[in-house]
Amino acid sequence: MRIFAIGRNYAEHIKELNNERPDEPVIFTKPDTAILRNNAPFYLPDFSNDIHHEVELVLRICKEGKNIQEKFANKYYDAIGIGIDFTARDLQQKAKEKGLPWDIAKGFNGSAPISDKFIPVTSISDLKNINFSLTINGELKQQGNTSLMLFNFDFIISYLSKFFTLRTGDLIFTGTPKGVGAVKVGNVLSAYIEDEKLLEFEVK
Ligand code: MG
Repeated sequence: MRIFAIGRNYAEHIKELNNERPDEPVIFTKPDTAILRNNAPFYLPDFSNDIHHEVELVLRICKEGKNIQEKFANKYYDAIGIGIDFTARDLQQKAKEKGLPWDIAKGFNGSAPISDKFIPVTSISDLKNINFSLTINGELKQQGNTSLMLFNFDFIISYLSKFFTLRTGDLIFTGTPKGVGAVKVGNVLSAYIEDEKLLEFEVK
C-alpha cells in the first residue's frame, strides 16, 4: 500500500505558514514504514527540533483505478479515518528554501500515526460537512471541517489518479486545518471525527 498526502488544502493553514495558495493540489507521499497503528507511542527523533502535528482525515481506497473521472471518484474510497501528518518543520523549511524535496521532513519513521478504526462512508450523511479535531493533553489545538477544503475528496482522487494508479488499501491524507504546532515529550494527542475519539497516543 502507499500513503499519498495533500499539502495546503485549507486556506487558514496556508496563511499561518505564509505559503502560496495552490492552483492544483500539492502532492507528496510517505513510505509505509511511516505508519504507526494501535495507538503506539511516537518517539521524537533527534534529527529535528521542531516536529509539528497536522491532524488530517484519511481516505481508504477500496478499488484499483487510474484516470478516474471526478463524477465516479466516490466509488473508489469506502471509509474515512484520522491520522497525524507529522512534519519536521525545520527540515521542511530548509528544503523549501532550497527548492528541494520534502521526503525526509514528511516521511520519516513514525510520521503517520493512523486510527485503527475507519468510519464507513455509507454511514456519513454529508461528506462535505465532517468535523474533526485534535487535542493535546485535553486542550483543543486543531479543528477542521471538510467544507473548508480547497480540493474536495472526489477532486483529490481524480487528480491523484492521473499520475498514480490507486490500489485497494492505499491511504490518502487530505490536508490539515490551521493550528499546527510543535509536540513535546509527554504530550498525549487525541484525534476525533465529530465526537468520536479514534486515535490517541503519547509522544515519548
Ligand atoms: Mg499535512
